[in-house]
Amino acid sequence: MAQITFLGAAGCVTGSKYLVEAAGKRLLVDCGLFQGSNELKDRNWTPLPIDPKTIDYLVLTHAHLDHTGWLPKLVKDGYRGPIFANPATIELTGILLKDSAHLQEEDAEHARFKKYSRHPEPMPLYTGEDVDPVLQVMKAMPRAGSFVISPEFRVTSYDAGHILGSSTLELAITENGRTLVVVFSGDIGRYNQPILKDPATPPRADFLLCESTYGDREHQDGSPEQALADVVNRVAKRGGSIVFPAFAIGRTQTLMYYLRQLENSQRIPRIPVYVDSPMALSATDLYLRHQEDHDLEFRKEEDGTGGDPLDVHEFHLTRTVEDSKAINDVKTPCIIISASGMASGGRVLHHLAKRLPDKRNAVVLAGFQAEGTRGRALLEGAKVLHIHGETVPVLAEVVELGQFSAHAGKSELLRWAGGFQAAPRQVWLTHGEPTAALSLQAAMKSQFSWNVAVAKYLETVQLQG
Ligand SMILES: [Zn+2]
Repeated sequence: MAQITFLGAAGCVTGSKYLVEAAGKRLLVDCGLFQGSNELKDRNWTPLPIDPKTIDYLVLTHAHLDHTGWLPKLVKDGYRGPIFANPATIELTGILLKDSAHLQEEDAEHARFKKYSRHPEPMPLYTGEDVDPVLQVMKAMPRAGSFVISPEFRVTSYDAGHILGSSTLELAITENGRTLVVVFSGDIGRYNQPILKDPATPPRADFLLCESTYGDREHQDGSPEQALADVVNRVAKRGGSIVFPAFAIGRTQTLMYYLRQLENSQRIPRIPVYVDSPMALSATDLYLRHQEDHDLEFRKEEDGTGGDPLDVHEFHLTRTVEDSKAINDVKTPCIIISASGMASGGRVLHHLAKRLPDKRNAVVLAGFQAEGTRGRALLEGAKVLHIHGETVPVLAEVVELGQFSAHAGKSELLRWAGGFQAAPRQVWLTHGEPTAALSLQAAMKSQFSWNVAVAKYLETVQLQG
């Protein structure tokens, strides 16, 4: 009988890895990094309970590191099969993994130099060299429609509306002449957002694995433009700067899109925006190459309609550590966008260490902030943060802009789930902290009368035919 084991994103929002076993074959859906508390991060160093050599196929829902960031380790540990994903996800995964390796190396090097690590000899989980073998086995599958992986597994992709390339996967498993359908929601995005298409619900699922990141919460109401304009104007007026913890691709483009619109309509002053990432690149090129993935219109500057919708007027990409450090010298109001989005590592830590102790500044948190991260501590009103072995006082304003979240809020998750034409036989809630998953479980039970369970880490469940 077919079965699924939750190797991650069960009881937490990171480390997505679902092992499907059927007809003597093994397929892994996603291969994410655990992020957040030390306890979670330590799982990245623990080998899988099964030998990666015995996994036959791997398929990705989208490129975010909590869904792809463990791939270099999996391949290093012996996985030799193909990794299927759509073209935008392949391209983004390449960028993200190189960035992840680079930042882990930078962080380990910095920790060794400053001697603040929990470990006597801090090591990166993987290096840039470990990324190439992953990219070599990535194979393109179509953005939409059906794709045959093997006689046992056929996958159909639907837009998830979460980031460029993001998909919900419908997996048809054929075993002993019978076929059953398992839907992996992936991360579900928002309805009526700029840039990305709306999330689409597959027509049917015998079994459903549904994410529950915001299963207990709605996002703040109101226009994202107005909320953003208010923060920028308030901070610029008092001569401060804004730090946005965010990866260079995805939310950064949504922010840039709104900043550009606000600049064009003169609702905010034109202040410099720094996107600080070792992998910084022209996101515009990426979005132009993957037009099938979004509904953004690129217009030419000369037609007088405002030019590249993803570039603000004073835009700087900083790649090198020297350029990154030079941002410290910027005394006039500016906006700094840098990873990681939950301030759990990466260059944004240097910017926070520099900007947090000044009450004129602001930190804007737009993405989900997992338990145990500095981002979560800021949201919960921490007076100090521990960064690189130093205690940094938090005097800057902390602003949550949930309107910019790439994740469906509770009612959007229910709207998505409500799109199935018939009740799944069983639902497992994944990718959520316990309170979020339990709240969504209660809502799904009362609204749809479905069988809904919360997935447990390392639990194996049977897909009863
Ligand atoms: Zn995601």
